Amino acid sequence: MNCPKCGDPGTQVFLDTVYNLLKEDLKAFFEKGVYYACTNPDCEVAYFGGNTYLVSDVYPKLWYKDSSDDVYLCYCNKVTRREIKEAFQKVGPDLKAIFALTGACGGGRCRTENPLGRCCHKVIEEYVKELRQQ
Ligand SMILES: [Zn+2]
Repeated sequence: MNCPKCGDPGTQVFLDTVYNLLKEDLKAFFEKGVYYACTNPDCEVAYFGGNTYLVSDVYPKLWYKDSSDDVYLCYCNKVTRREIKEAFQKVGPDLKAIFALTGACGGGRCRTENPLGRCCHKVIEEYVKELRQQ
């Protein structure tokens, strides 16, 4: 399924992820169905499928659409990009040490808290790789 706005292929997500991240007043009108996330950083659509929801319809900032420092990379334990960067500066690229210091990646609620319904491990690993190249 392609995003109705930008045409990029969507990433299928769990129904309960979309429901959980919707702003409170939209939950009552939630339409069940198969949902996809639009991960194009330049597109304002967050989810589409059963219904279309914009970035402004969901609570958290989406790490794949917003590159600012105050965006969560770990949604379960609310660890921001800035906190990961600071931990990297302190303990280096060792992921275990970064997780231990920040509490990232251990919440176990990725299915409903992470906007793609996935564990944040890979995302943080990619970000640390990026930091090493700077
Ligand atoms: Zn889109």
